Parts: sequence; structure tokens; C-alpha cells
Amino acid sequence: MFVDYHTHHERCGHATGVLRDYVEQAIKVGLQQIGLSDHMPIIHLPKEKIYPGSAMELDELEEYVKEVLNLKAEYQNQIEIKLGLEGDYIEGYEEQIEKLLSPYPFDYIIGSVHFLGEWDHSDSRQMEGWRKKPISEIFAEYYQAVQRAAKSGLYDIVGHFDVIKKHGHAPEKDISPIIDETLQVIKASGMAMEVNTSGLFKVVKEVFPAPSIIQKAVDLEIPFTLGSDAHQPEHVHVGVEEGRKLLKEFGVQQIATFTERQRIMVSL
Ligand SMILES: [Zn+2]
Ligand SMILES: [Zn+2]
Repeated sequence: MFVDYHTHHERCGHATGVLRDYVEQAIKVGLQQIGLSDHMPIIHLPKEKIYPGSAMELDELEEYVKEVLNLKAEYQNQIEIKLGLEGDYIEGYEEQIEKLLSPYPFDYIIGSVHFLGEWDHSDSRQMEGWRKKPISEIFAEYYQAVQRAAKSGLYDIVGHFDVIKKHGHAPEKDISPIIDETLQVIKASGMAMEVNTSGLFKVVKEVFPAPSIIQKAVDLEIPFTLGSDAHQPEHVHVGVEEGRKLLKEFGVQQIATFTERQRIMVSL
């Protein structure tokens, strides 16, 4: 099954192209399923603290869902479109997130930790945050947040598990114990993880998560999805075949797909 479960579009303010462009590109490259998964609106910061072009506005969510559902119906004979969302995990805002997402018929929600408090560690405009604490401390805080996200039950897929390495930071201490612990928590939660191939094109030049972590997750029988994290239509499915090859090398035979938040395993 050829799928891409992680894509964005212009509503977030830092991607290009409309939803239809991503669907058309997915058809062009021969996918059977395309997951549309734009960033969730930012709910924990006052307007003046939100960096411009971070995510759609709160009142755009309903329109986003409507547009995806219309495309789903329109293209049903050509490709299966999934209504997804990349949902931020924000510590202390679990109830608000649940309230925001529950009215909509999502096929899946990716749970991503971009924010540690008010700081978006993944935003290249906010690099000063990296100078405030030792790197290994920041990594530990990040993985603790991933664990809380998994325990919250709000999400179906762990987004870019080790994205904290995105800008090339490396902890000065061995952090494998907290990574192992986090994988155990994910296993217990029943969530899937994604191989997110956008990392190949970032400073780290490596998929999220790193192959050594994929190997550990496969050993724990954590299911995987595949996603490009495309922010422009031409990037749909880019790198995803490398991700698939990696999974196959680790002996994975099935991939997780989602319909109305139910996981369905299909042949990789
Ligand atoms: Zn984005
Ligand atoms: Zn993300």
C-alpha cells in the first residue's frame, strides 16, 4: 500500500499550495491513500505571542475539515483521502485539546511535541531557547512531554519521534535510557509511530526517528505509518520510499492505516 500520512498546505501560513494540489500530486505519484494533516491551531498562547505563520487560526479549523470532507467525496474513485491533523501536545491543555478536536470526524490525529511551554523548539526563529539550558536537559524535557502525549490518549500516531534533533543539536550525555522508556510508554499506549522522511532534508539529514530507534520500536512491535511532512505539493511522498525500504530492512511487513481513528494494518 502506497500512503503518505503527513502533509500540510497553505492554511498554516508556512506551507504552499491548497489541499487539492496535494491530492492531485498524490494521484500523480500513484498513492492509494493521502492523509491531509495540517497543524492544529495554537490554543495555549495569546495572539501577540504566536509567531506569524505558525498554524491556522482557531476559526479556520471547521472550514479545513469541511474542505477535506468535500475532497474525500469528490475523489473517492481515484484515491482514498484521510482527514487527519497534526495535533500539538501542550502540557496542561489536554482537556482543551480534546474539546477542540472531538466535534470532527478525524481519521487520525498525529501527536507532535513542538512546544515546551511557550517555546517552539522546532522553529528556526526561536533558536535562543537552545541557549537557556543544557542540551541534554532540553532533550529530556522533550521526551517527557512525548510520554505525557502518549499517556493522554488524545493521539493515534507519534509525530516525528526524535524531532528535537532537527537543528543538529546533540545531547552531551547518553539519553538512550529516556528514549527506551519513551518507547515503552508508546508501546503501552497502543499508538503507532511514523517514519517521517522530512528529516532527510533538514540539518540532521536523517529520518525521524533515527534508524536505530526504528529498530527498537520494531522489536517492541510498535506499528508504523509513513509520512513526508510535505509543506509544498511537489514534496508529497518524497523520501517515503526510503522510509519504506528501512522498515522492510527491519523485517516490517505491515503498515498502519486509519479510518475514523481505528487502526487497520495493511501490507507494506
Ligand atoms: Zn509545518
Ligand atoms: Zn511537526
